[in-house]
Amino acid sequence: MADSLHFACGCGEVSGTVALPAPIDGECVVCHCSDCRDFVRLCGKADSMLDNQGGLALFNFRGSRLTFQRGRERMASLHMTEKPVLRWLASCCATPLFNSYANNRIPFLDICLAATRNPEVLGPLRARERHLFTQSALGDTRDLAKTSPLSLALRTTPRVLKEVLTGARRRNPLFDPATHQPIAAPRRVPRAERAALP
Ligand SMILES: [Zn+2]
Ligand SMILES: [Zn+2]
Repeated sequence: MADSLHFACGCGEVSGTVALPAPIDGECVVCHCSDCRDFVRLCGKADSMLDNQGGLALFNFRGSRLTFQRGRERMASLHMTEKPVLRWLASCCATPLFNSYANNRIPFLDICLAATRNPEVLGPLRARERHLFTQSALGDTRDLAKTSPLSLALRTTPRVLKEVLTGARRRNPLFDPATHQPIAAPRRVPRAERAALP
């Protein structure tokens, strides 16, 4: 029987699942880049969502496996920089939930594991998690299992291709199935707002 990863925002207005047919087609990564960190800080969730080294635990998966139980209309999106990474949060309580590409032409999707209720369902994938951008991590990173953006991209590409070639990406509820544009128009965070983060 297939498992599901359950997620919810802090107030419970937004919730849903990621279907996990076996074998699980996904990968766990802890990202230490300053953009992920500042996204979580902007949402006021640094204490509950970042690890001791400022890392954000993510699960990369096929976006067609995502389903909202409730609150899809409460999703908001933003860009931290000029880069095409799109950040998704539940607007009700500013809980960071997903990272994606700017549109669904490249169907790439991560979920923030701190917003999931049963990450243990990922089993050995969590034990194999790798750390990204450790040069931006806080404290001693010698013992962290590292990966590079290039090798991560090589491992992610088959999932992206499966979504494109099978047409499955049109089932990703964060994007319009016809235009591949995000369901919530992104806000671009002004540099000054980011610089003023506590
Ligand atoms: Zn909420
Ligand atoms: Zn990052």
